[in-house]
Amino acid sequence: MAVFKPENVEDFYEIGEVLGSGHFGQVRQVRERTSGVFWAGKFLKIRKIACSRLGVERSSVEREVEILQSVQHPNIVTLKDVFESRSEVVLILELVSGGELFDFIAEKENLLESEAIEFMKQILEGLRFMHGSNVAHFDLKPENIMLSDKVSSNPNIKLIDFGLAHRFHQGEEYKSTSGTPQYIAPEVINCEPLSTAADMWSIGVITYILLSGLSPFQGETDEETLRNVLATKYEFDERYFSMASSMAKDFIQKLLERNPNERMTAEECLLHPWIKPITRKQAANRNRSSINMKNFKKFNARRKWKMSYNMVWMCNRLVNLRLLNKGRTDPDPLQRQCESDAEDTDSKPASLLRRRLSSSS
Ligand code: ATP
Repeated sequence: MAVFKPENVEDFYEIGEVLGSGHFGQVRQVRERTSGVFWAGKFLKIRKIACSRLGVERSSVEREVEILQSVQHPNIVTLKDVFESRSEVVLILELVSGGELFDFIAEKENLLESEAIEFMKQILEGLRFMHGSNVAHFDLKPENIMLSDKVSSNPNIKLIDFGLAHRFHQGEEYKSTSGTPQYIAPEVINCEPLSTAADMWSIGVITYILLSGLSPFQGETDEETLRNVLATKYEFDERYFSMASSMAKDFIQKLLERNPNERMTAEECLLHPWIKPITRKQAANRNRSSINMKNFKKFNARRKWKMSYNMVWMCNRLVNLRLLNKGRTDPDPLQRQCESDAEDTDSKPASLLRRRLSSSS
């Protein structure tokens, strides 16, 4: 079991700028006082009342910590330390300062498949290691695929956010309905027993987007997206895939496979000719094919816009909830928190899927 240090994190680290925000808190740059080294501090509000949806359960943080400690790999973010106060847990993580892979790619004028594959390889190597340790990430999406730094010309992939990750134990049946609709596997929506294959579906979706700038199952609403995933109907529209190689499409097809047992594993992906060409012709094909940069840039701009919109939505929601609670005469904090949660859920039902709730068993 990881040690959650009871000391005040600020005695050891200076707290700096906000690097990002999640559902349960912020990630900030922190500077170790003794060494001057920069790290990322993930500040997680801990749920105080069992029925509340405010904050994260301590047991979930314990799971995230245990998993991060056990999956040490160059393509997976490293955990250094954990601090705990009455209301908060702070994870001290390796600082991943290169931003998101998708943003890095969107800044380029063009990108050959062979160049994109170098990144895919690293993602798959991280996953092969993780899956080999019986851990599934369950939240693979562009926001959680980052780059080590901004200075080197070949930055390393770092997979982050193990908040939904799960370690499988022998003979265990695990179900969860958490995830992000665009990237979620059909078996998650159907509440079927899960395996590491669910991550491979997400890799199929991410590769599809990377090549075309289209999201294969995206609907007008989350509900529609989920229906599209369940139908597993997608195509390689020539208008968007004309520059892609047939090997790339084959790679995607073998991942967007409805039956998890028939989906390629990370190990198998690393041996697929798109990733590891056997013949000269295969290798040459990857250098002749490129990603649809024009549409990819559009996709990424829309994605970033949606992310900032969601953030504003979340902030407004918090302000409104605070104002609401202030105006109340009801003295029962338990009831108050549960009511706020109910209201929150009613107003955005699809967000249920994105939460770390007691929806896993
Ligand atoms: P979510 O609700 O999306 O699951 P979360 O609360 O689990 O989020 P993370 O996804 O781990 O939090 O982090 C939120 C954001 O903070 C990330 O999208 C990223 O921008 C930034 N971030 C997270 N970890 C690091 C890190 N180690 N170095 C730099 N930035 C980071």
